[in-house]
Amino acid sequence: MNLHASAEKNTQIEKSSQPLIEKVAIIGAGLGGLAVAVALRKLGYDVQIYEKARDFRPIGGGLGLFPNGLNFLDAIEPGIVETIKNLGCEIQTSVLKNTQGETIRTNPASRYGDKYGQPLITVWWWHLQQILASKLPSESIHLNHRCIGFEQDERNVFIYFEHGEKVCADLLIGADGINSAVRGALIGDGKPRYLKSMSWRTVIKCHQELLNPGELTFVKGNQEFMFLLNLGDDYISWVYRKFFPDCIVSQDAGEVKSQVLSQLADWGESLRSLVEATPAERIQEGIICDRLPLKSWSKGRVRELHKKNDPMTSRVSQKFQQTIF
Ligand SMILES: Cc1cc2nc3c(=O)[nH]c(=O)nc-3n(C[C@H](O)[C@H](O)[C@H](O)COP(=O)(O)OP(=O)(O)OC[C@H]3O[C@@H](n4cnc5c(N)ncnc54)[C@H](O)[C@@H]3O)c2cc1C
Repeated sequence: MNLHASAEKNTQIEKSSQPLIEKVAIIGAGLGGLAVAVALRKLGYDVQIYEKARDFRPIGGGLGLFPNGLNFLDAIEPGIVETIKNLGCEIQTSVLKNTQGETIRTNPASRYGDKYGQPLITVWWWHLQQILASKLPSESIHLNHRCIGFEQDERNVFIYFEHGEKVCADLLIGADGINSAVRGALIGDGKPRYLKSMSWRTVIKCHQELLNPGELTFVKGNQEFMFLLNLGDDYISWVYRKFFPDCIVSQDAGEVKSQVLSQLADWGESLRSLVEATPAERIQEGIICDRLPLKSWSKGRVRELHKKNDPMTSRVSQKFQQTIF
């Protein structure tokens, strides 16, 4: 969406008739929902965000933020990239290793700054969520609000929540992730597609020798890989992903950890010991899926944020690997 163009159009319409859009409701206080909220508030909209979680907790994995994303964030909130840099880690070198932990290649990451004016930054998902949330008035973020559906007419959209509340807005934006309730009601295209791949990830605070400051490591195996990310302040994240034809979800935290360790049985001691040192309850198991692109992703006063979902689809993740090495 070209926000400036739409705001100008809105202003023109406002001059001649009733305002089209004043109140915007966003479902989901993830990175997408919060970033859109920051941008729309800057354009003068009254934005309210509704999030199903009861509180903001330290969840999520480590993220790699590339120059295009950082330039976008700086455009909607000048100075925010400096805050992200201070809390996260500016990557100087990317390192390619084999599963025994031996270095195959290193690449300087300075070319990002030279070419695009922004570095590659790694940051904890939770920290980025907190940075974005801090740019919004706290009273505009409504936690413990699980959206269960909506109805719209020519003038309004009514949004329904699990605990019985109903709110009215001029525009509804669904930023509620890959299993979006808004998308379900708007498009009704069923469940996401399993991409025959599972992931396990964590963020832990630890001193280790695998990863130097300013380094991002990619461990390439056979139909499996692992990222090791520095997130600043002694936090590191490992993200392990493996081809898994059948999706098997573990029953408890102990089973999750045993599952990862059994997959890493042939890996070198340095990498295995990092997983062994991770508390089982800190490891998040994930099913990798995506959705097919849509031709249209809005109807009337309701929009779905994603044309196509999770960037950890195989194609995008391959692109990520190709970009850093
Ligand atoms: C293993 C893995 C690694 C990744 N690595 C990277 C990376 O390095 N770099 C990168 O840029 N991206 C990465 N991603 C992708 C990134 O995490 C997602 O693209 C991003 O989080 C999507 O943001 P979102 O706000 O659209 O959705 P989400 O982050 O999923 O947020 C959705 C929000 O909506 C809330 N919600 C859901 N349903 C409802 C409801 N019914 N009512 C109210 N609230 C609701 C949820 O609680 C959540 O807060 C990775 C993803 C995975 C799985």
